[in-house]
Amino acid sequence: MLRQTITEIAGGTWCINEFNLVNAFVVEGDKRAAIIDTGCGLGDIRKVAESVTEKPLSVFLTHSHPDHTGGIYHFKDCSIYMNDEDASAEIFGFKRDNEFRKNYVKSRGPVRNPGHVEEMLSLIPSPEPDCEFSFLSIDDGSVLDLGNRTFECIHTPGHTEGSICFLDTSRRILFSGDTVNNSIILSRQKDNNTSLIEKYHKTLAKLWERQTDFDVLAIGHETAVIDKALIHDYLRLTEGLLDGTIKGGYEEKGFRKGDVARFGKAELWYQCDQ
Ligand SMILES: [Zn+2]
Repeated sequence: MLRQTITEIAGGTWCINEFNLVNAFVVEGDKRAAIIDTGCGLGDIRKVAESVTEKPLSVFLTHSHPDHTGGIYHFKDCSIYMNDEDASAEIFGFKRDNEFRKNYVKSRGPVRNPGHVEEMLSLIPSPEPDCEFSFLSIDDGSVLDLGNRTFECIHTPGHTEGSICFLDTSRRILFSGDTVNNSIILSRQKDNNTSLIEKYHKTLAKLWERQTDFDVLAIGHETAVIDKALIHDYLRLTEGLLDGTIKGGYEEKGFRKGDVARFGKAELWYQCDQ
């Protein structure tokens, strides 16, 4: 049977890999634990989280995209933290529901977990769970305390307006969600205007200013942990796109369509249609 895998990446810190589609993380302090993102909602991610910690759980959301919040129905009794600006975020018109899950598995599954698409489809929850949720708002500088272990919230607009990275100086990890990972998307802007690339560039500069506080990134998709130098590759890439020294172009690759550019290990779909 297909299972989520759970791997310890640092003391009291685990990655839950949801069938190679998306990552969530469990972090434990002395008094409480938290799950950072909740997967897209296939199978029982709470049970997996509770297999490594007995402490009461909170939920920290890096952003509201349904592949990161689709499992929220397992955590309605927990305190959920997210930035206000992501309250109504959608991605390419999809909401947090089974129609999204089905489309997500059918589009990402063949690329990220070939051979297991039917099995993943069989894990779509039935009946359709209610994924509306209320949350406590976090913003730049908010600090979440799990007991002798704190997480600083850094507001990082770009991928979504309300994206938040969680800085854990105790383990020197930045939980970067979809703000920095192997392949970042910025949705297409009207008339190809570059304001979103500029905004994202500022976000990267802000994260890089904090580089002495962490060594690695714990990212939202694929490899759980990656060197922080990736931020610098994205910084150079966005700088090059803005000053014209790096040029990208239209591509269709796997489930992605749009204008893409690359530098070092960074890949940015900067006018992304799908
Ligand atoms: Zn996202």
